[in-house]
Amino acid sequence: MIPVRDDLRALDGYHSAQVDVRVRLNTNESPEPPPAAFRDAVAAEVSRIDWHRYPDRAATELRQAIAAAHGVDPSQVFAANGSNEVLQTVLLAYAGPGRTVATFEPTYQMHAQIARVTGATVVEGERAADFTLDPAEVERVMAEHRPHVVFLTSPNNPTGLVEPAERVRQLLDLAPGLVVVDEAYAQFADWTALDLVAEDRPLVVTRTFSKTWSMAGARLGYLVGPSWLVGELDKVVLPYHLDAVKQIAGRLALRFSDDMNDRVDHVVAERNRIIAAMRELPLDVFPSGANFVLFRVRPAASTGREVWQGLVDRSVLIRDCSSWPRLDDCLRVTIGTPAENTEFLTALADVLAPTPTGAMS
Ligand code: PMP
Repeated sequence: MIPVRDDLRALDGYHSAQVDVRVRLNTNESPEPPPAAFRDAVAAEVSRIDWHRYPDRAATELRQAIAAAHGVDPSQVFAANGSNEVLQTVLLAYAGPGRTVATFEPTYQMHAQIARVTGATVVEGERAADFTLDPAEVERVMAEHRPHVVFLTSPNNPTGLVEPAERVRQLLDLAPGLVVVDEAYAQFADWTALDLVAEDRPLVVTRTFSKTWSMAGARLGYLVGPSWLVGELDKVVLPYHLDAVKQIAGRLALRFSDDMNDRVDHVVAERNRIIAAMRELPLDVFPSGANFVLFRVRPAASTGREVWQGLVDRSVLIRDCSSWPRLDDCLRVTIGTPAENTEFLTALADVLAPTPTGAMS
């Protein structure tokens, strides 16, 4: 074995338990596949690909389609293999050794993880106990650390909370560098920072096809931001990083936005049903603007880990966040199909039901 870079030695990978279960509600995917007509359209175009040629390096048609969907110029769109690769490209260009990246914890772990991999220093601002972000904390982190890049995630993962528009505006006023608003789940929420994107503002908004577009298998994400910034990202990313199949799939998916909106409506309705049912149980349920719900098992009931295991024993897999910093006894459930959600709720009530002796089942 040869030693890895010193600064990477302490890094832990990003893990999500893969357990063989009937109901899988742990990775925030869409519960429904894309429409059949989308799959047929992709198959027809894929059959005409020039397989011996490299794909369009600039992903011109895909960028045009994304730009049209958001009413921006194609030069303001950058696409990559999942929004994770979008974030990585942003951080390769704007973070790196000698630079500072700020997050407000708890939030999506990959922001800090990718920043560290680029060699940047990460500073962690703190959210309040209810996971909202205090304006004074934003001020403190900006004044003390002057970060080159700062992240907000709205709705936030894993908390589900939507960041208020005032907080994003405040950050735009105070941040000395680039503001990244990660909107992987924005279609489930009631506002977007996309309207704030402008050529004279150092703001990018990242989106993904993995959730609402039911295309986690395709690995496609993008950002909307100023064209001068997109130009820098184009220099950093590997040539031909977006394969021909993905460019077709992304472009065609955007023709099915009505189906996507229907799926979002179903998920939001189910989310509200699940939250109402969970509020009847001995749990603290956090409000959610996303396609998942975070909840905390009340200490007297049992531990988060025990409840997670109890659900796995009933063939329901959700995300165990209980060992993550600031998330003691917290679990996160992705909204599934109505049948899956009912199965989850039944299993959860069963796990939390007191046994005749008063002990937990
Ligand atoms: N941002 C957030 C907040 C996420 O939760 C995720 C997925 N877990 C991503 C980005 C990455 O999504 P993808 O790479 O599939 O686009």
